[in-house]
Order: sequence, then structure tokens, then C-alpha cells
Amino acid sequence: MNHVAALPGCSSEQSAQGQRPVLRERGQREVFCGLTGIVWLHRKMQDAFFLVVGSRTCAHLLQSAAGVMIFAEPRFATAIMEERDLAGMVDAQDELDRVVSRLLARRPDIKTLFLVGSCPSEVIKLDLAKAAERLGTRYMPDVRILNYSGSGIETTFTQGEDTCLTALVPEMPQLGEDAPRNLLIVGSLPDIVEDQFLRLFDQLGIENVASLPARNARDLPSVGPNTRYLLAQPFLAETAMALEDRGAVRLEAMFPFGADGTTDWLKAAAREFGVDEQLFNRVIAPGRERAKRAMDHARSELEGKRISFLPDSQLEVPLARFLSTEMGMVPVEVGTPYLHRAHLAGDLALISDKARISEGQHVDRQLDRVREDRPDLTVCGLGLANPLEAEGLTTKWAIELVFSPIHGFDQAGDLAELFARPLRRRDRLEV
Ligand code: SF4
Repeated sequence: MNHVAALPGCSSEQSAQGQRPVLRERGQREVFCGLTGIVWLHRKMQDAFFLVVGSRTCAHLLQSAAGVMIFAEPRFATAIMEERDLAGMVDAQDELDRVVSRLLARRPDIKTLFLVGSCPSEVIKLDLAKAAERLGTRYMPDVRILNYSGSGIETTFTQGEDTCLTALVPEMPQLGEDAPRNLLIVGSLPDIVEDQFLRLFDQLGIENVASLPARNARDLPSVGPNTRYLLAQPFLAETAMALEDRGAVRLEAMFPFGADGTTDWLKAAAREFGVDEQLFNRVIAPGRERAKRAMDHARSELEGKRISFLPDSQLEVPLARFLSTEMGMVPVEVGTPYLHRAHLAGDLALISDKARISEGQHVDRQLDRVREDRPDLTVCGLGLANPLEAEGLTTKWAIELVFSPIHGFDQAGDLAELFARPLRRRDRLEV
């Protein structure tokens, strides 16, 4: 868990352009650090290895979050910094070189090695960018060595993916101005979901579609002024900026959750690539219908129920949009660690003005508001769920939403079900 010292205060902000008010809070946070992203990133990039330069705490966090790796050759590890490293009694760069050379000698399957910064490496100001550059010259072209920060001082939970993908962007091959247009799906998706989207784009006749990250970290897609990209995850602000610096243009869309969100997301690409409207409707109709039918199973349990989100995964705004416009839930508070207004504009516009939008965290105040609001369901981090349950509130772990396949038409029913399950459990306990 990442506990950041309090900067007391909160403020309510309404912009000059008449945007909806946002309650901004600064205080103690209760979220995982960015190292957690390694759990899904190492499954996605199958030739990559994540070497955390950190403490035993970091190793424990990863081990317990990833849990299931006992029988496999792991693709992440922690180079544990001992007291003498922290006290500056040894040259940590030399130690790191030794660890990396042992690792690469033993694991020739590693093609991309990420050196991942943590709180301890940051505190002693261990320069991992320098280390990656030095080691990179030694091991290229066999192994690409990159670095990013997953430290709890700099990153929350899903931000680890953002810093990781940002590190990949400069490595992407550059496309010239005369290159044909290409489409990038940006954000790590389970392979099965990525395949569904690729099939749909193929049926729509959109060519040159690739994903960032790719399944093999070495197969980086190309980027240039004719690149259009769709964000699949709402927590990739830095990655988006890095791509735009390379000339890519973001397609504005809602995030692909539920029947409507997925339709809007696909439509943004179809519009940009000039897909005929009839063809579009014909291609998406079966998936859209399947999604609607699957969502119907949970509708009666969700309709009219009040829901609050505590800031955690940055998925809060698009999920609140999905639950309110497609499942009839009533968002009471939608808290998110960061509110990227431009990326979330489509979803945000559809959330009722009566819902309170908050950005940042002051955990005590937020818990007080949850106690006062008494929503039917509160989506929050693991550490907050048990105390709230003990007070008679029904909760859903935000982390489950990150670890489950929830994007696209064929996952819409499962997504709705994730919210219906705790309500059903509560009803059974009350009988
Ligand atoms: S990076 Fe920091 S917050 Fe994350 S596990 Fe390590 S010490 Fe804890």
C-alpha cells in the first residue's frame, strides 16, 4: 500500500468554460503503487522481464499480487536493495550490473528488460535511466533495456502501465508523412479481448491495426503523423502525450465498456477510416445484441441502485458512465485519482450532474461522505472494503475490475455481473 503524506486541503473547482464542478482533494491515499501493473504487463508482453530495483516490501507486494507464478519461470523479480545499498556503502550501479548480467546469462528468452524504479531506489536517487543506457549498449541488439518508475512516491496503481508504455514509445519505429494510415489500440488488453477487437476492425475493412503494448515487446508498432490511436484504458495520459509528440492523433471516443461504449469506440475508428455506415451497423450488430442480452441478466439487480467509487484504478469515470446509462444505476460519487478531462469527455458528459465528481484523495473525508451517502454499493481498494463491510456497507474491490477482462461486447455481461454479485450476496445474507 502506498501512503503519501497529507497535503491537507480540498477545493471545489468549476472552470470558466462552464465545465461541471470537480471536488479536488489532497491527502492520504489508499491505493497500490505502480508496481502492481507488472502483474498484467508481464502476462501481456511475453518476451519481456521486469526487474524491480526495490526492497523486500516491493518483492512481497509483487509476489502476493501475482501469486500464481509458482510453477512457471517467472518474468519479474526484485533486485533487493540491502541496508548497505541504502546507506551508500556500495556502488548500487555495480551491483545492478552484476544482477542483470547473471539474469541475462541464465534467461536467453528475455528480449526486453525493464528496470523498474521503486520508492527505495528513488530515495537513494539511483539513476535507472543511466543504468538502462549503460546496460543497453552492452546487450543490444539481443536485449533492449528500458527503465520506468513504479514507485509509490510517483505513481498510483494503474499509472505503472502508463510509465511503462511511455518508456516504449521512443523505441517505436517512425513512419514518414507518406506512409499509409495506421490504427493503434493503446493499452494492455487480455489477448482474447484484443483478438475480438482486431477481428471487428478486420471485418470493417480497417487495415494496419496494431496494439501497444504488443504481445512481444520487441514487435513494437510504428508511429507517425498518419497514425490514429484509440485509448483502450483511461489511465494513459503520459503515453498519449508521448505518442502525440511522435505525430499520432487520438480518436475521441467513450471507453469500450458495455454495448454503447464499445459501439462508440469502434465508431470513432470507422468514422476516421471512412467505413460505410451500413457496413458498420452490419458488422457490429451481432456483438452489440449479444452484449445487450448478456447485460439484461444483471439489469434488475442493478437498476436504481446507488453507487459510489473511491479513487483507485482510474477506470471509475467510464465504469460509472456504463453503469448509469446502460444499467440504470445512480452514481452518487465518482472519485478518481486523476481526471483526464479530454480523454474522459465522452463518458463524463453522460454522467448525471447530480453525481459528485472528485479527483485525488483524502481518504478520511471520502469515507465520511460514503457513510453519509450510504450507497448500495461502494467500489474501493482492498484495504477499505473490510472496514466498510463491517459498517454494513456493500463493497466491490476495484482491483478485480483491473484483473478481469471487461472491455468489449463479449465481456459486457461479465462486467455487469461483477457489480451485481456483491448486491446479490448482500441480499442473500439479509434473508
Ligand atoms: S514501490 Fe514503494 S509503495 Fe510500492 S511496494 Fe515498493 S516501497 Fe511499497
